[in-house]
Amino acid sequence: MYWGRYIMQYDHILIRYGEMALKGKNMKAFVLRLQENIQSKLQDYENVKVKRTQGRMFILLNGHDPEPIIAKCKYIFGIHSLSLAIKEENEPENIKAAALYALKKNTAAKTFKVTVKRINKAFPIRSQEFNQVVGRHLLLNTSDITVDVHRPDIEIKIEIRHEATYITSSVVQGAGGLPVGTSGKSLLLLSGGIDSPVAGYLAMKRGVQLEAIHFHSPPFTSERAKQKVLDLAKQLTHFGKSMQVHLVPFTKLQQEIFRQVPDGYAMTIMRRVMMQISEKICQDQSILSLTTGENLGQVASQTMESMHVINEVTNFPILRPLVAMDKTEIIDIAKRIGTFETSILPYEDCCTVFVPKSPKTKPKRDKANHFEAKTDFTKLMNEAIMEVETIKITSNENAYVDLF
Ligand code: ATP
Ligand code: MG
Repeated sequence: MYWGRYIMQYDHILIRYGEMALKGKNMKAFVLRLQENIQSKLQDYENVKVKRTQGRMFILLNGHDPEPIIAKCKYIFGIHSLSLAIKEENEPENIKAAALYALKKNTAAKTFKVTVKRINKAFPIRSQEFNQVVGRHLLLNTSDITVDVHRPDIEIKIEIRHEATYITSSVVQGAGGLPVGTSGKSLLLLSGGIDSPVAGYLAMKRGVQLEAIHFHSPPFTSERAKQKVLDLAKQLTHFGKSMQVHLVPFTKLQQEIFRQVPDGYAMTIMRRVMMQISEKICQDQSILSLTTGENLGQVASQTMESMHVINEVTNFPILRPLVAMDKTEIIDIAKRIGTFETSILPYEDCCTVFVPKSPKTKPKRDKANHFEAKTDFTKLMNEAIMEVETIKITSNENAYVDLF
């Protein structure tokens, strides 16, 4: 549509970042990180720019199709919601024209509502009055369209800010949470199961940047099982940038544990060894916490007593984002974030190859210490750490799922 001066179009995406507005002094760092994360996610789009103004962020589309860009933005934590926006000068006539354009663009709308927010008090017409002015203009220039302030088919929002006015007419929900990188780093213990990828996703949602560690036992566990874990990590990278995955050869340690430790305690000792190796990797990478997919009550290793004994070997905080969730809730998230289908592939895991017949559900610390002391696992642990294979995973555009 040509309006005399230029072709009017939705050439901006307005980003609202909800929760971050509450962050007081930290706010600046959070906003900068969000801007950086958006820029990095959109780096392949030439001339697409990400700008900040007070309380808002904007993506300048510079002619690019907004749909794929919005789809990508849905993966960025810290974005509360987004809207396609027309940017206009703070001139009443221009704003009225843009509002009419927005209304006509939505050919299905039979009812509308106008909401004016006047942040820039230098704008000469007060919100309520301008609301009516724009509403009248829209009614006069359309037919068969009426006002409905309660349940309109389209709500035209007009934000009059200092630098310009933004006109939007639809809101897309964002991923919420905090920008990845604002809450430090954690090492995700990533198995091939359903739970740990979901735990990783939820940690990332709170702004945590992840590296992952996976214990595998070749040749008892296959290449396919390893690839499955790398695929899960890849799916998680869509919510951030990239992820280092540390693959720990666990065969010798597992064999030794099952030779030396009574069956009931083998699982407990195995977990304790995993924790110690994970902590060592954290120290090498300056990571300050571990994240697991543990969930109270699910299996033998996840009773209160088990956690008590397994936790004894590390001083590191352990994030357990799933601790209070039902399995059905976890599965719902896994499906939504696109990890479920990979997680249920039937490839063996090191913990399914070496399964104790009757793991203790209520292990005791003194007994675990006693069995552990009888064998020196340090040498094997150090060897395993020496042989860690680290793979850097970056996100793959084609694997994006429609999130909402
Ligand atoms: P998941 O679905 O994540 O495998 P789970 O319900 O099978 O969890 P467990 O097997 O008891 O539970 O494992 C508990 C947690 O220990 C996992 O969520 C994961 O964080 C960690 N873990 C288990 N096996 C491995 C492994 N092979 N490599 C890395 N971490 C593991
Ligand atoms: Mg498992």
